[in-house]
Amino acid sequence: MTVTDKKRPIPLLQRLLHSDIIGDASTYAEEWGSHFDFMYPLTNDRKMWVEQLAQKVFYWTGIADLYRRARHRRGATIQMYHSVSGPEESRWIDPRFTIPPQEFEAQVRFLAAHRNVVPFSGLVDMLERGENPPAGTVVITFDDGYLDTLRVAAPILEKYGLPAIVFLVTGYIDRAQNQWGDELFSLFVSHTRTNVSLPEIGQPTVDLRDARAKAGAYSALLSWFISALPGARTQMLARLADEFRPKCKAPRLTMNWEEVRELTRKYPGIEIGLHSAEHLDMTAHDGATAENELEECLRATHRELGIRPEHFAFPYNRVSPTARALVRQYGFRSAVASGEGVLISGKSDRLALPRMETCRSISLFRFRTGGAYPGLSRAMLRYS
Ligand SMILES: [Zn+2]
Repeated sequence: MTVTDKKRPIPLLQRLLHSDIIGDASTYAEEWGSHFDFMYPLTNDRKMWVEQLAQKVFYWTGIADLYRRARHRRGATIQMYHSVSGPEESRWIDPRFTIPPQEFEAQVRFLAAHRNVVPFSGLVDMLERGENPPAGTVVITFDDGYLDTLRVAAPILEKYGLPAIVFLVTGYIDRAQNQWGDELFSLFVSHTRTNVSLPEIGQPTVDLRDARAKAGAYSALLSWFISALPGARTQMLARLADEFRPKCKAPRLTMNWEEVRELTRKYPGIEIGLHSAEHLDMTAHDGATAENELEECLRATHRELGIRPEHFAFPYNRVSPTARALVRQYGFRSAVASGEGVLISGKSDRLALPRMETCRSISLFRFRTGGAYPGLSRAMLRYS
């Protein structure tokens, strides 16, 4: 290939046919191979694939830009990341919650060049003043406190001079323990038994060689764990380990406090927010249990970092009026949760700010951070 060839812009058709145009699910399937093939039924959704294809076409044809200008769309998006990991760690993490470093860097490089990335607290300041953030304003967030946030993501962000916030689950940081979700996923990729008994989810026998049955069991167990209390989760994980007999153990994926201190010391652009003490679903538990979660995570960050974080991320993005009121009562200035749409304006509820899930396609990412999403998709694709 000559230098001239390299400089020539890629024609539209070529872009559309490029692998990036294929939905995220297909990209994963190719990479996973047999190791992760049970995840395929959980991610291969034809409707989602068609929507993603349309969104990429909106971006590359310039329709998205026209729409944004015509509608005078303003507003910020908040990007939600969990792990950014290479092959050694990523094989132990549900692929929906991790992104390879090179793809993360491509997104960060694009944001640095074409979007207005502001600190999370900067966005909250703007909203408190009743301002509407300009289109293309983006905030970067990381949930849980993965070790790769320190080792992989923060150096990339620093290279491009972008800020971010990390929402910590303090109990897991105290114990430097892998999140229950990672422990569960690890069992599903390293089991030695082929038939397991899962009466807790109404399945006396599950044949783990059947990808669809395995996906169903994994999905049902995720739901079970989300609404369970911490003690019940610990007991269940011990029982499942006995049942699945994993051949090896995942490496440590969560930071300890010393590493969190290193993160804040080395990377001043990283803010610390909270994400509960034990990843408790605050819509499933209230009263003293929920209060204890907030008290404990505030106490731990004060003890370990000497700070009182002002921003909260509801576990699993689940919020109820009671949980919202409690977070306000404990003095948090803002909270992220699943909310209406993903475009944040001065009118958005600051205690239930919606976020956008990690997407691995750079075209989708460009479209979804530009200001025309979700309005244009809703108008053209008629989804709610
Ligand atoms: Zn979380």
